Amino acid sequence: MHYESYFSGGNVLPCDGAVFAHVQNPATEALQGCVRECSIENLNAAVRSAVQAQALWAQSSLQDRREVLDRLTAAVQTRSQAIVEGLAVEIGCPVWLGAAMQVPMALKGLAFARAALDDIVWEERIGNGLVERVPVGVIAAITPWNFPLHQIVAKVAGAIAAGCAIVLKPSEFAPGAAWQFIEACQDAALPDGLVNLIWGGAEVGRALTTHPGVDQVSFTGSTAVGRAVMADAAQHLKRVTLELGGKSASVLLPDADLEAAVSTSLRMALANSGQACVSQSRLIVPRTRLAEVEERLSAQLDDWPLGDPVDPATRLGPVANQRQFSRVNAMVDHALQQGARRVAGGAGRAAGFDRGWYCPVTLLSDVLPAMQVAQEEVFGPVLALMPYDTVEQALEFANSTRYGLSGAIWSKDAEQAATFARQMVTGQVIVNGAPQNLATPFGGRRDSGLGRENGRFGVEECLTYRSLHGVD
Ligand code: NAD
Repeated sequence: MHYESYFSGGNVLPCDGAVFAHVQNPATEALQGCVRECSIENLNAAVRSAVQAQALWAQSSLQDRREVLDRLTAAVQTRSQAIVEGLAVEIGCPVWLGAAMQVPMALKGLAFARAALDDIVWEERIGNGLVERVPVGVIAAITPWNFPLHQIVAKVAGAIAAGCAIVLKPSEFAPGAAWQFIEACQDAALPDGLVNLIWGGAEVGRALTTHPGVDQVSFTGSTAVGRAVMADAAQHLKRVTLELGGKSASVLLPDADLEAAVSTSLRMALANSGQACVSQSRLIVPRTRLAEVEERLSAQLDDWPLGDPVDPATRLGPVANQRQFSRVNAMVDHALQQGARRVAGGAGRAAGFDRGWYCPVTLLSDVLPAMQVAQEEVFGPVLALMPYDTVEQALEFANSTRYGLSGAIWSKDAEQAATFARQMVTGQVIVNGAPQNLATPFGGRRDSGLGRENGRFGVEECLTYRSLHGVD
């Protein structure tokens, strides 16, 4: 599929720029399609249409917003299967995971933004002052490729509920999910210009971030690019929301139920081939139980065979592209050079595959906090085991990176688990494998970002205050 059109003012229009990205099927390396860049004129048109839509949508009633979100939900749902199939051939996400996570997370995002309309305190009286919560304006949404639909919807649902128009610049590595979403917007007959989409890489992203018609930038992606986006936005004093990388730890306290903890931690490290910002890529283990944990992990690797993402039986696919494949290999090699001990896997293409970006599941043990693999995001199926001697040291290890996005704690003593969780410097902690609640705020601390998404918190991120003095 070739992506050669952008979406502006409710119209599908041809992109004026050159082809700037090719999408390869990560399982077969076959060319899947290409993406044509938007020119500055195309970008200006998309922002202009968002500015026009903004003036009207800011006046919409809560009921108008509910109805739009309902129509959008129904339209995304109708396209579920096509989205899942597209994710398999564009980023190698197994169809079961697409159906179990990628699409349901997006649908929940829409549902929770809709529900938030009833929970937000839209106005408040303070003496003679009336404090109103009003839309911040036009939002630029810049998104990555790993959960491409969910990341788009997290931004768009919050913005629509808040009364904001959007210009979306999705990742060029996963154009299919973004375009399916735009087709869903058309099916749902969204007001013209409420959602617009442009294609481009860093240059177009920068032009969008710095565009005078944009009031706020909502970015999800790597920490390095997030820093650049914030610096660009600062030149124009635009508000930013940054959802960035992570190096999350799952901590097993000495009394943890290993059966549950090991299988869940492995799943949280491997889902989407480790290409999740919340991936629990570090497992912090009592030294006295390290051998047992390694044995249990090794025994469970049979449950994670690599396979073709389009096969419904496949649990684990290739990583999304060649860039990712090279990065994972280089980081595994470097970890071994730095003294990590290989328990399973290693660098290179997984055995049994002669093409495709298949990284073997890799378990590295005796990892120390100073090693690169303990500090930097791998974004691949690689789990770093870090043995500790005391619970104080476990906490020190958990908090020993610049990131702070997610994490997990395991202990049979619920109170001890909660006490430990409260000391982890991170945006969310999953206690004893509890289900994640997408209505709660999601976002990071330190290098994992600024601001929050999901549910009421994602909508509030798109609101500002207006104080009226002397109005009844
Ligand atoms: P990336 O930072 O390379 O790109 C993200 C987006 O930014 C893309 O659309 C890209 O085209 C655009 N971009 C690149 N340079 C830009 C610039 N100078 N100005 C404006 N836009 C620019 O990230 P990626 O490789 O697509 O995604 C993987 C990263 O995203 C990982 O670090 C992952 O942890 C992170 N991520 C974070 C979350 C979260 O919610 N915290 C969720 C998913 C992914």
